[in-house]
Amino acid sequence: MLATPVDAKRSSRKIHARATEYLQNYDTDLTDSQRTVREAISKICAKYPDEYWRKLDESKEFPTDLHRSLADNGWLGICMPQEYGGSELGISEAAVMMQTISESGGGMTAASSVHMNIFGLEPVVKFGTAEQKARWLKPLIAGKERACFGVTEPNTGLDTLRLQSQAKKDGDSYLLTGQKIWISTAQNAQKILILVRTTPLSEVTKPSHGLSLFYTDLDPSAVQITEIPKMGRAAVDTNSLFFENWRVPASDLVGRENDGFKTILHGMNAERILIAAEALGLGYAALRRAALYASDRTVFGRPIGMNQGIQHPLAESWMQLEAARLMIYHAARMYDAGYTAGEYANAAKYLAAEAAFQACERAVMTHGGMGYAREYHVERYLREVLIPRIAPVSREMICNYIGERVLGLPKSF
Ligand SMILES: Cc1cc2nc3c(=O)[nH]c(=O)nc-3n(C[C@H](O)[C@H](O)[C@H](O)COP(=O)(O)OP(=O)(O)OC[C@H]3O[C@@H](n4cnc5c(N)ncnc54)[C@H](O)[C@@H]3O)c2cc1C
Repeated sequence: MLATPVDAKRSSRKIHARATEYLQNYDTDLTDSQRTVREAISKICAKYPDEYWRKLDESKEFPTDLHRSLADNGWLGICMPQEYGGSELGISEAAVMMQTISESGGGMTAASSVHMNIFGLEPVVKFGTAEQKARWLKPLIAGKERACFGVTEPNTGLDTLRLQSQAKKDGDSYLLTGQKIWISTAQNAQKILILVRTTPLSEVTKPSHGLSLFYTDLDPSAVQITEIPKMGRAAVDTNSLFFENWRVPASDLVGRENDGFKTILHGMNAERILIAAEALGLGYAALRRAALYASDRTVFGRPIGMNQGIQHPLAESWMQLEAARLMIYHAARMYDAGYTAGEYANAAKYLAAEAAFQACERAVMTHGGMGYAREYHVERYLREVLIPRIAPVSREMICNYIGERVLGLPKSF
């Protein structure tokens, strides 16, 4: 259904000062449920202004308050089945939620503090038993448990199918041995969704076979968790994990043994769409700050935004963000309609991350020296916007995917 008709005198997508003022009330392309999400999330995020995020970035404290507010208002279950306390909305609504959280000024810090809990457990929703869903989804949705995601490994990187962590069956449990790297929120999560090999690579017909997925307690007495000092998003930790003969109950296996890759694939397109929406939000936040500063700051007797050298790059960034926005919500609609191929989700993640990076960089440059000062926030945005360019999949791997799957070119790796 179309929203309120566009007011001809007023741009439907003006850049305003705060997330709460930036409601897309005049947008004709938001559905009623998306608008409801936008308004509700904006209200929650308005309690956490830019200054709050700057302080957390300095103190490195996990944003538990935001996580709690979203849980208390039922938002952590936006995509989860109603039976377990969720709202059963689509990725189209979850993308609005994540865009708004990031756009409010919280950026990747705010988004990453809940990201995994929004759609990460999709493999459990699709492949978990009724007992597992009741055991795992309810506490996650209620905000009583937090989950992290363990796929990346130091020796294999993007070559996921060659990951080296193993699980060996031992009675009614498995013994997990190996290492993971870049595992976000492991310092604060009680649970981990972890992918390991249960049949050696040498014994499978295809590398995608023989992997298994577990959702289990992240037990710090069995897993060595070491934080990685990093460039941005300091409040949301990222870690390396090391484990040897870590005993995990067989009842924590998600789906069938050796089918883990197939199981985990189910969440991947959705994750790319959400990351894209988070990048988009950050890009808009940066552009908003740049436009405000360019109007206010006077040099040579006129606002710097009067100079086309300042104005045109910002105008171009707006167009690029809007183009990415269209791709994101197109990919989300397709996903919600049951489309399973990955070209639109991947393209959305690529375009949004690149457009957002450019907007953040331009926002810093528009601020001149002040762009380098923490007080103006855009340097934090620039540090954070590199994350969606790198993770969960790099730009190069997206181009490989499009080259091979869409253009029919020979596989390059
Ligand atoms: C802040 C942050 C948080 C993260 N959180 C998580 C998390 O919670 N859980 C998790 O499992 N992982 C997480 N990651 C890991 C992230 O998904 C990986 O860093 C990413 O997938 C890239 O893998 P890599 O770092 O091993 O790069 P590598 O695989 O070492 O690749 C390095 C570079 O080489 C390029 N390259 C490699 N192979 C090819 C090829 N065939 N063709 C063209 N280019 C190629 C890549 O595109 C990349 O630019 C996180 C990373 C960061 C930075």
